[in-house]
Amino acid sequence: MATIFFDFDSTVCTKESLDEVIALALKEYPEQTGLVEKVETITNQGMNGELDFKASVLARIAVCPLNEAHFTLTGEHLKHCLTPGFTQLFDWLRSNDWDIYIVSGGFLPSVSPSAEFLGLSAEQIFANGLRTDETGNVLEVDESSLLWTNRGKTKVINHLKDTQSLASPLVLVGDGSNDLAAFKAGVVDHFIGFGANVVRPKVAAESPEFVRSLSELKTVLKNII
Ligand SMILES: [Mg+2]
Repeated sequence: MATIFFDFDSTVCTKESLDEVIALALKEYPEQTGLVEKVETITNQGMNGELDFKASVLARIAVCPLNEAHFTLTGEHLKHCLTPGFTQLFDWLRSNDWDIYIVSGGFLPSVSPSAEFLGLSAEQIFANGLRTDETGNVLEVDESSLLWTNRGKTKVINHLKDTQSLASPLVLVGDGSNDLAAFKAGVVDHFIGFGANVVRPKVAAESPEFVRSLSELKTVLKNII
């Protein structure tokens, strides 16, 4: 028995979900050239630790008006953008009695479809929420989410430790500096930097274990249990 927490964007999924949401929304504003690249730049600054998480999200969602439909449509699309091999990896983890969670700084409607496709229940998915008006227009981020802080993953994992009897060891897998920060805060026993989709230099340099493929990840996990 063990517990594993996965990041979503650029880890379980090959894409950055919020960037995909914004790219979809920007199709309604074809005159706004260059904004997709601007959004990607902000994302990378966030994941490399040059910009804090909340500032990075707020800067991106301010680029153009967003509707909840952009998130739900992107969520369905991202089911087809999972990192190859994750379906089999989750099956293997379950058959070895691992409890699996996805903890994402992305937004629930764009993360849940993929997580459910991978067999996770709602209780195993943590992501940010949105506040919308009656027509779905996004007004703001749901500030009550445990994840809506610059140390959100640390808070969620601590919350789970307080409210459930999690099987040890606790393992966190992710590509971003916010994932590494949760390990440095001491909330998990093991951290595995994930570089199969994108390699963040700070994460690659500072992770106790860093993998560049799913087979490398499985090897590290086998050594943990
Ligand atoms: Mg990520």
